[in-house]
Amino acid sequence: MKVVKTIAEMKAARRGLKGTVGFVPTMGYLHEGHLSLVRKSVEENDYTAVSIFVNPTQFGPGEDLEKYPHDLERDLDLLAPIKTDIVFVPTRDEIYPPGYMTWVTVEKLTDPLEGSRRPGHFRGVTTVVNKLFNIVEPTRSYFGQKDAQQALVLTKMALDLNMPLEVITLPTVREPDGLAMSSRNVYLSSEQRKQATAISRSLILARDMFDRGERNTAAIKGKMAELIEKEPLAKIDYISVAGAYDLGEQDIIKTPTLISMVVKFGKTRLLDNIILK
Ligand code: AMP
Repeated sequence: MKVVKTIAEMKAARRGLKGTVGFVPTMGYLHEGHLSLVRKSVEENDYTAVSIFVNPTQFGPGEDLEKYPHDLERDLDLLAPIKTDIVFVPTRDEIYPPGYMTWVTVEKLTDPLEGSRRPGHFRGVTTVVNKLFNIVEPTRSYFGQKDAQQALVLTKMALDLNMPLEVITLPTVREPDGLAMSSRNVYLSSEQRKQATAISRSLILARDMFDRGERNTAAIKGKMAELIEKEPLAKIDYISVAGAYDLGEQDIIKTPTLISMVVKFGKTRLLDNIILK
């Protein structure tokens, strides 16, 4: 496994790879969710590259950029045994040198949900992923359904800009008690961590209601909110029931539908979703 820090080194390493290259962009502090993407890439490609870069331009003022968890040694120990070929760990200056001024924006799909709560977030994501694609030149790239809107936006970006690669979205990996894995889960106190299972429980409740024939989203959102509100430390940021491809809110469910939500525990925003087909 080769660890490279500069764009020049990454491009040189890429030139040495003859065959298909799978790419998994991450912000590090890896968990099984990230590793599931890497394993799939290893399975589907001749070579696999992983990037670890906490992208400053996707964080808003007052967000957790400076305290985002990191442990490069641990990340490398997790990646080595699953046959990662290249790990790209650039500095902020390498990606955004002084005088940097170019941005990539996907419109409309970035307006609702996370886009409305985190202005500028998706512009940062699409810009950095575009840059990473240009540097790594992957055949396929892998993203998690956990960040459903992000996966949709990046798929649209690749399509609209005729990028010569495939964007693949893989299922959310969960803890045994249902909590979606996230690097940010380490911010939770043990009491918050226990109560956080309410998020996946509310999504399962929504699916059960749908399976029993409920199509009215107000009824579903009401029951989900009731369940979450039983947990004293949980504060609902939003619960959305929207078209899985256009992210338009639905009053009556018309599948495929994305139920997505953010629940806050203190300052920690926990994001989760399911798709109804
Ligand atoms: P991050 O490091 O949070 O930027 O995530 C890097 C990639 O891993 C993104 O494509 C995420 O959607 C994906 N990811 C994060 N958590 C999970 C999870 N629990 N299951 C599957 N993929 C995930």
